[in-house]
Amino acid sequence: MTPKGTAWRTHRCGELRAAHARQRVRLGGWVHRRRDLGGLVFVDLRDRAGLVQVAFGPGWSPPDVLARAGGLGSETVVVVEGEVVARPPDMRNSELATGDVEVHAAQLEILGPAVTPAIPVARAKGEDLAAEELRLKYRHLDLRRPEMQANLMLRHRLLQRARETLSDLEFLEIETPILTKPTPEGARDYLVPSRLHAGEFYALPQSPQIYKQLLMVCGFDRYFQIARCFRDEDLRYDRQPEFTQIDLEASFVGQEDVLGFVEAVLVALWEEAGHVIGRPFPRLTHREAMERYGTDKPDQRYDLAIADWTAQVRPLGVPFFQSVMKDGSRVRGLAVKGGGALSRKDVDQLAEAAKQLGGAGLAWVKRQGEQISGSVGKHFTAETLGRLGVGDGDAALMTVGPDRVTSPVLDKVRQEVIRRLAPRPATAHAFCWVVEFPLFEPDPATGRPVFAHHPFTSPHPEDVAKLEGDPLACRALHYDAVYNGHELGSGSIRITDPAVQRRVFAHLGLTPAEAEARFGFLLAALAAGAPPHGGFAIGFDRVTMLLAGAASLRDVIAFPKTTAARALFEGAPAPAGPADLATLHIEVKR
Ligand code: ASP
Repeated sequence: MTPKGTAWRTHRCGELRAAHARQRVRLGGWVHRRRDLGGLVFVDLRDRAGLVQVAFGPGWSPPDVLARAGGLGSETVVVVEGEVVARPPDMRNSELATGDVEVHAAQLEILGPAVTPAIPVARAKGEDLAAEELRLKYRHLDLRRPEMQANLMLRHRLLQRARETLSDLEFLEIETPILTKPTPEGARDYLVPSRLHAGEFYALPQSPQIYKQLLMVCGFDRYFQIARCFRDEDLRYDRQPEFTQIDLEASFVGQEDVLGFVEAVLVALWEEAGHVIGRPFPRLTHREAMERYGTDKPDQRYDLAIADWTAQVRPLGVPFFQSVMKDGSRVRGLAVKGGGALSRKDVDQLAEAAKQLGGAGLAWVKRQGEQISGSVGKHFTAETLGRLGVGDGDAALMTVGPDRVTSPVLDKVRQEVIRRLAPRPATAHAFCWVVEFPLFEPDPATGRPVFAHHPFTSPHPEDVAKLEGDPLACRALHYDAVYNGHELGSGSIRITDPAVQRRVFAHLGLTPAEAEARFGFLLAALAAGAPPHGGFAIGFDRVTMLLAGAASLRDVIAFPKTTAARALFEGAPAPAGPADLATLHIEVKR
């Protein structure tokens, strides 16, 4: 018996190698595939470690075993006992880790007969996956697929590695409540009705934010938690209503300390997945990120940055730019190396994508030798283009307007250009920190300032005075970790002065009395001796998705929700019966 041996088996299927040849083994697993070949039956037997070929034949399997093997249906659970046999060189299967051996079965027990699977677990080469709705509905089959098993095993290893790394840095793992009070992170709360207190509700935490700050006030110094967070948001492809964060907080730290802790965790996670990452990560202020990439999560694998061409272009008198050149408008663009290779169709599609985002649309110029073409080509000379950094074989893509319009347009155009021209990434893993976020952003619908992070984030010390008069100009001690254009997580240095915290709460539209009612416990704690502190939360599902190379968050979560926040497998949410509702003092209006 190996240490993995149990009452039913001696080894896992996927771990057998040439070194096991001539050993007698007992394996348990699922029938992945069965092939009958002239009196021989071959079964690929599968468990979480992988597949192994089990052969049933007249030379080594008793007739009843051979007969039963011939009737085995897909996904039946069996235990087989037999001898590991080295395959002759020409019969080895290099596509299988166990491909140097097979097991000659002498015994077969059928432990878990299986109905015909509703979706295939074993797929032929090139066969498409079942539709995702079916995969979610029949999750007990979908999770058996080797790809899904690999994703969840990677997830496990990453979690262990995060725990280990943070423990080594003397962070304490402390759990915080799930039934709690609203912790605003910008989403709606999930509410849980109280049976004992009619008309009162718990909220599920949008994050452990307030509790981790309380732990700092209590002197625990360094905290972490693998925290489940709940946010009732309109869902997008990469969001889940409940998700996992690697959440951390530390006291007597400044921003650089926190970035250092998070880098240590990220480097360890990437290493666990086989990638060597250098530290420290480059830093970029929010203003620089918006200026050069038009987004706060720039993909820095590619050396293509937005430039301000207002001064060079203004004298050219191009009608396209002139018509919208108002106060605060700028001409900004991308000098695309090799952009001459963009076809007319490419450019039209880029312009269409730009239009969808509103604004003036996209103007373009291409340069081939002395020949200059494009929607505004006739206004440009080789010399002017040269000054914009547009050389032979390159293209200039530009737009005009206020930054709030041109930034998203040029971000989109930049991403599309990268996708179409597929320039070789200068680096495969481009991490960066975006620092000095604004404390507030204008709400796209109303223009009113809303928190860029959450209301516990400290304003930049130089900007505290702007809190009331010019909130949109107030920077924050808020930072994001960005990787290849994905936001991996956010954090900040926190407010510790209760007076500043009250001023910030006023921006939530709370009167002093309301702030006291909702957050009095935090204000009291801050007034009771609060150390400087700050922290971060890593979006663990997204990190796992990226490291697994998975297409969706749902591929790295065992039982995820759909984009409509439904659990299709177990069937949630579901109506509650009248008795339950009565106990909870709830009446449902339809
Ligand atoms: N609570 C924050 C979040 O969930 C993270 C942090 O500020 O530490 O994004």
